[in-house]
Amino acid sequence: MIIVMKPTSTEAELANVEKKIKNAGLKTHLSVGDDRTIVGVIGDKKIIANLEMNMMPGVEKTVRITEKYKIVSREFHPEDSVIDVAGVPVGGKHLAIMAGPCAVESVEQLEEAAEAVAKGGAQFLRGGAFKPRTSPYDFQGLAEQGLKMLRTAADHNGLKVVTEIVDKDDMDLIGEYADIYQVGARNMQNFQLLKALGKAKKPVMLKRGLSATIREWLNAAEYIAAGGNENIILCERGIRTYETFTRNTLDLSAVAAIKELSHLPIIVDPSHGTGRWEMVRPMARAAVAAGCDGLIIEVHPHPEVALSDGDQSLTPKNFNALMDEVRQFGALMGKTL
Ligand code: PEP
Ligand code: MN
Repeated sequence: MIIVMKPTSTEAELANVEKKIKNAGLKTHLSVGDDRTIVGVIGDKKIIANLEMNMMPGVEKTVRITEKYKIVSREFHPEDSVIDVAGVPVGGKHLAIMAGPCAVESVEQLEEAAEAVAKGGAQFLRGGAFKPRTSPYDFQGLAEQGLKMLRTAADHNGLKVVTEIVDKDDMDLIGEYADIYQVGARNMQNFQLLKALGKAKKPVMLKRGLSATIREWLNAAEYIAAGGNENIILCERGIRTYETFTRNTLDLSAVAAIKELSHLPIIVDPSHGTGRWEMVRPMARAAVAAGCDGLIIEVHPHPEVALSDGDQSLTPKNFNALMDEVRQFGALMGKTL
């Protein structure tokens, strides 16, 4: 349930409303907007059903929330959330561009990639140090050594770091080097990992699972939010369908759906979404036109020798061309880098 306070309500009236909810053994979640304060009520459904709030001074109305996810819902928080990533905003009127190789391979590769994406206008360096590979015989990542390389290359070029976490026991280690924890598609419903990240002090980028519905994805985000970490960025990265020409089917309708259902920023990954570098640029344009809050793009200085995902990686030159278009499409959508 949400309780919408009157624009004229006083602080004392709000305090009374919160007190009544807490006395009933429930939790509150406050959203203070420009002209309205909304009190979200979280807890046992049966207790909430019996809670009578409409008659309390200062209350305009109460609305029942039928969806299972609450904190991440648009009803709980009508305005778009802007996530502060170490001083770089994600969401609202901003376009966040995360770019870099699929995997951290070497100092040379990463420094070259970081310089190129920074020049192109990205604010974040991506790169996996712990790789969730389909085959156990494929390159698994450089672990802590890779994290160090990421931090160093990012710092050399004024970038923030986004990197994947696959094991909750690595949370502190990754937190020492990264600015955003990336939860990969294969771990979207790893609830132990989500719960651990609910206690993390840094933002989380939650990728959509390979065959997850939009509601399952939002419930996964709710796990992180329920733990206390509301700094969540969603990422559409394509879903599995019968189509085999592309690696996945990029579901751009998810951008519009998320904008309706949630206040969280959503970025799009056209690299994994298509699996083909020639398709990355047109899909990046389409994603920005659909209203996304940013992009995550695989860029490799030499895609032909990449240890993973070379087929979908852009050269620095192609990344620059993409960025020129993204700036123009962003401006049309009222968003700047
Ligand atoms: C990645 O970003 O390199 C990655 C493994 O993505 P996903 O989890 O979407 O497959
Ligand atoms: Mn990849």
